[in-house]
Amino acid sequence: MAKRIVIIGAGLAGTTAARELSERGQAVTLVDPAAGETSERPPLSKHLFDGSRYHLPFHLESGELVSFVRDRATEITLAEAAAQSQQAGPTDGTPVTGTVHLASGETLDFAHCILATGMEAHRPDIPGYPDALPVYNLAEAKWIREFVAESGAPLNVGVLGSGYLGMEVATSAVAAGHEATVYLRGDEPLRKQLSAPVRKALFEKHKEAGVKFVAHTSSPDEIPADIHNLFVTSVGARPALIPIDGLRPAEAWEVNEKLATSHPGVWAAGDCAQITDGIFALDHPWACEPVAESHGKYLAELLSTGEAGNAEPWSDIPWHWSFQGPEKVFTAGLTSADATEAIIRHDPSGKKFQVFHFDGSSPDARLVGVETLNWPPMQAAARRVLAGNNIPTRAQIDDPDFDFKAHSRL
Ligand SMILES: Cc1cc2nc3c(=O)[nH]c(=O)nc-3n(C[C@H](O)[C@H](O)[C@H](O)COP(=O)(O)OP(=O)(O)OC[C@H]3O[C@@H](n4cnc5c(N)ncnc54)[C@H](O)[C@@H]3O)c2cc1C
Repeated sequence: MAKRIVIIGAGLAGTTAARELSERGQAVTLVDPAAGETSERPPLSKHLFDGSRYHLPFHLESGELVSFVRDRATEITLAEAAAQSQQAGPTDGTPVTGTVHLASGETLDFAHCILATGMEAHRPDIPGYPDALPVYNLAEAKWIREFVAESGAPLNVGVLGSGYLGMEVATSAVAAGHEATVYLRGDEPLRKQLSAPVRKALFEKHKEAGVKFVAHTSSPDEIPADIHNLFVTSVGARPALIPIDGLRPAEAWEVNEKLATSHPGVWAAGDCAQITDGIFALDHPWACEPVAESHGKYLAELLSTGEAGNAEPWSDIPWHWSFQGPEKVFTAGLTSADATEAIIRHDPSGKKFQVFHFDGSSPDARLVGVETLNWPPMQAAARRVLAGNNIPTRAQIDDPDFDFKAHSRL
């Protein structure tokens, strides 16, 4: 008997799960105010100033097996609570574990529900710049691109925040001939994202390229007015969460290593999910595209087999990329911004390098993660190595004669 599967959120995780489930012959209902019109987010922050294609639409059509519900989910009630409310219950003989409630007042019963609602950007007020906005969705990117196009002259761009998105905006502005100033809380950008060797190398390259930095900006009130003609905020995001039986988690949907929440029949994928068990457990969501897509594929496989109990845990190697003007930085596996015992290996020119992270400090500690600066083929090698069965030790990586790329082909 077909299961009733409802997916909330038509971003990368939800669209991937819907596509893969329908390809396996399973009907799904995809709920999102923009279902069918959503697009990938990474191009938004990288192509605001260069006139190139700044979004990549997801190609998923509604049809026999994929139903779009263009509405916002407001809450979920589980079957036990729903039965008491007299609103929901089995209507056609298929098992119901819960009900999704929509802003329109409609409801959708489900046997399985995938929460794939992503994140929402923080939106601080910048007193000197009332029009300041994040670049987190298509509408915001469109507004900024139109502003840039209409101005027709080099702009002076202000950016609050120095994580990946803020640095992508500032560096791409400078690469296109604009001025950019980044206001940051600490004294160096990318402090939470990348280890010291990588973030320091990027800091120097971005300063050389002309990006200006104003360190120790502790409040938006300190940002002088009337300097910038465009102001972009980039101070993080939080998972978009709807309540289940009246309760909403404080941070994210905590899931086990099979992406199951603590509620029967309810799963979470992508940016709204925080994995609490297994090798890729973190104290925050992974928040990157490859993980969102991989979660979608994993849950499609798990739900279409109907053998969740026997399923292997989710185990794809997480990875991330960020293109900051001409600089390309990647991570694969578990890396730490606070690493002090990582090993650095450069290419012969000394211009590209990788930082290797281990699960301990002894010579036989195993490789767990790699950062790569401006060396895409070696990022691919790092992903192959971390996904393989020949994980090198600290002693091997420390050996100058060890050929990491050749090892990745074993
Ligand atoms: C500007 C930007 C640049 C990025 N660059 C990179 C990068 O270079 N590399 C990288 O790896 N990652 C990058 N990311 C992160 C990456 O885009 C996300 O990790 C990925 O999109 C997460 O996919 P998702 O499906 O979990 O969520 P999303 O893609 O955010 O989709 C969530 C969907 O849920 C919908 N939704 C939310 N609430 C509800 C509700 N109540 N009812 C119905 N629908 C709802 C939303 O409308 C949205 O369509 C970037 C993100 C942004 C914003």
